[in-house]
Amino acid sequence: MSTRAAGPAIGLSTGVGYLKGVGPYRADLLRKLGIIVARDLLFHVPHRYEDASTIAPIASAEPGMDVTVLGTVISKGVIPTRKGLRIFQAVIRDQSAMIEVSWPGQPYLDRVIKKDDKLLLTGAVRFFHGRQLQPREMVNLGPEADGITEGRVLSVYPATEGLSFKVIRALIDAHIDALLPLIGEYLPARTLERANVPPLPEALRLVHRPRSIADAMRGMSRLAFEELFFVHILHRRARDLARETREGIGFVNKRDLTSRLKAVLPYELTNAQVHVTREIVKDMVSDRRMHRLLQGDVGSGKTIVALFAMLLAIENGFQAALMAPTELLAEQHARTFERLLAPLGVPVLLVTGSQSAAGRRAVAARMESGEAVIVIGTHTLVQGDTKFAKLGLAVIDEQHRFGVEQRAALGAKGSRPDVLLLSATPIPRSLALTLYGDLDVSVLDERPPGRLPVTTALRPGSARERVLTFIDREVEQGRQAYVVYPIIEESEKTDLKGATAMFASLSTGAFAHRRLALLHGKIPGDERDEIMRRFRDGEIDILVATTIIEVGIDVANATVMLVEHPERFGLSQLHQLRGRVGRGAEESYCILLGDVSPEARERLELFAGTDDGFEIARHDLRLRGMGDLFGAQQSGEKTFRYADPIRDEALNLLAMESAEELLRADPLLEKREHQAVRTALSERYPRALALFRVG
Ligand code: ADP
Ligand code: MG
Repeated sequence: MSTRAAGPAIGLSTGVGYLKGVGPYRADLLRKLGIIVARDLLFHVPHRYEDASTIAPIASAEPGMDVTVLGTVISKGVIPTRKGLRIFQAVIRDQSAMIEVSWPGQPYLDRVIKKDDKLLLTGAVRFFHGRQLQPREMVNLGPEADGITEGRVLSVYPATEGLSFKVIRALIDAHIDALLPLIGEYLPARTLERANVPPLPEALRLVHRPRSIADAMRGMSRLAFEELFFVHILHRRARDLARETREGIGFVNKRDLTSRLKAVLPYELTNAQVHVTREIVKDMVSDRRMHRLLQGDVGSGKTIVALFAMLLAIENGFQAALMAPTELLAEQHARTFERLLAPLGVPVLLVTGSQSAAGRRAVAARMESGEAVIVIGTHTLVQGDTKFAKLGLAVIDEQHRFGVEQRAALGAKGSRPDVLLLSATPIPRSLALTLYGDLDVSVLDERPPGRLPVTTALRPGSARERVLTFIDREVEQGRQAYVVYPIIEESEKTDLKGATAMFASLSTGAFAHRRLALLHGKIPGDERDEIMRRFRDGEIDILVATTIIEVGIDVANATVMLVEHPERFGLSQLHQLRGRVGRGAEESYCILLGDVSPEARERLELFAGTDDGFEIARHDLRLRGMGDLFGAQQSGEKTFRYADPIRDEALNLLAMESAEELLRADPLLEKREHQAVRTALSERYPRALALFRVG
């Protein structure tokens, strides 16, 4: 693209050691930051920006606040304390006031910070013989006035020990004018236009030398978009490739059993259920292996969708299996299926750990005979050496409750069965596709009509007695209740109430005249299932439990859910818990009880105000990150350098659509006008090229 005169000029791939201002020592330090060639310097972007709008006058800094201030050092020194700790202290001043700044345990700063240096400091203000700032972050701007308070933007770069932010900024400043013209655009113009992000050279200029913070953000949006766009291209291609190469069963949509089920179903399918069922049927009819995730809020009716898919397998003479995370849930599904399938003559078998050996052998025999049966079970389905002679479809309910190996093990039980995963943690489709690689994703974004929303309220600890009386009245009317605690046993380290002690206290106190039971993860599985069975059959009024009850349990007569210490739970988890009530015709209640911090109150009030699992999951994601919702392994958080797929949701959606559009037009990126993208992609992700090789 650029035609610079030949000569000793630097190129993008010149090693940083050859750049003016960098010797071997600095080159080593730069390497630590991932900066190896000149090009890397351009992509080493500021992690934050400051200008007059982000910097507070020192006079306004009050104890308890978290502030960023800019001031000149007017005095400094190291103070020893009686406990042997040495504290570096400085006093800084801006036009409004002075403040004492303190760095406990960092006496070496005395050599780094000079009188008259300008310091940009971020940290908490506390009260200690007056106002004192304890910085979390410091940028030493040196003695020269930097003018950032007059509207200039300061770009703050990630630095490392021995290589200050100032040196990095100076290096970038010194070379950016020579390097930027060498940077060419590789994304198609149409893609850029659609995403409304600037071309790469302009973006990099905006990022390094913004005139306003808005400028900088606009530049960043391009880098974030590109990253998301590339990930979607890779995942989309991986899915296409899997579909092309993953041989599977080509079922025939006979509309035999499935039509008969539709006829006996006591309700109409929602539009979302119809739509999603079609997506699944399309996968199953193709002779490629299905690998699909079905997401839907609690109560959106995923089970029946799975049943239609299973019947499609059965009417083709295959077997179908459904694996659930608890015995109770497996039993519940078996019951539902038996009821619906009895008129159709489809056998439903149950495999659980508490089954007798003889019973299990009988089921195993039918599985191995190849008879077209539906098998429902817990993880015992994949344990041992039982085989399916003709497994056509494997469904995994509450998929996040299983490990990767368990999920894979069920898929490996037959010979290449189609696989359907069900999940009740709904996240936006674009995000799911960012996270789940080569899975296809369907979303049930509608709930069956006529559900009463669960009345949700946050109550202070002082309302405890009234709340318990309320629950007692519900029980008096024949209803049942759950009382949930965050932990099993109380301990000295926290002042949290635990389920065990509270069970004892409630059964002798407020609910002495009621039938109570205790349920938590340390109770053996068979006892646990027995307790749940008794609760389901109405032999227990109030179940005192931990979050163990969060998945799938369907007891329509339970109308109250009391959660103590609600601030200890993620919103998505609370939403799952709340999903245990509101399953019948009676009005239901979810009461969050406790004295919580103002931040927690805000969060919990948002939860109380909405019934939409997508909105709740999104909020949780923003607040707690992906790791919390999916476990570190699935989260993929670390794969992004510029983008945050949660924060950048709209951009991510555009990136997904753009990637799909590009690959629809040119699946292998073979067209001339796409060579530049292809090259950029393979430079960024060396293993990507294999996905785009022909043949
Ligand atoms: P989840 O998606 O949480 O697994 P379920 O499949 O357990 O939800 O469905 C919740 C309840 O909704 C079940 O009792 C089911 O019978 C009922 N249901 C499912 N689809 C519909 C529908 N289209 N109309 C009315 N009720 C439905
Ligand atoms: Mg379910």
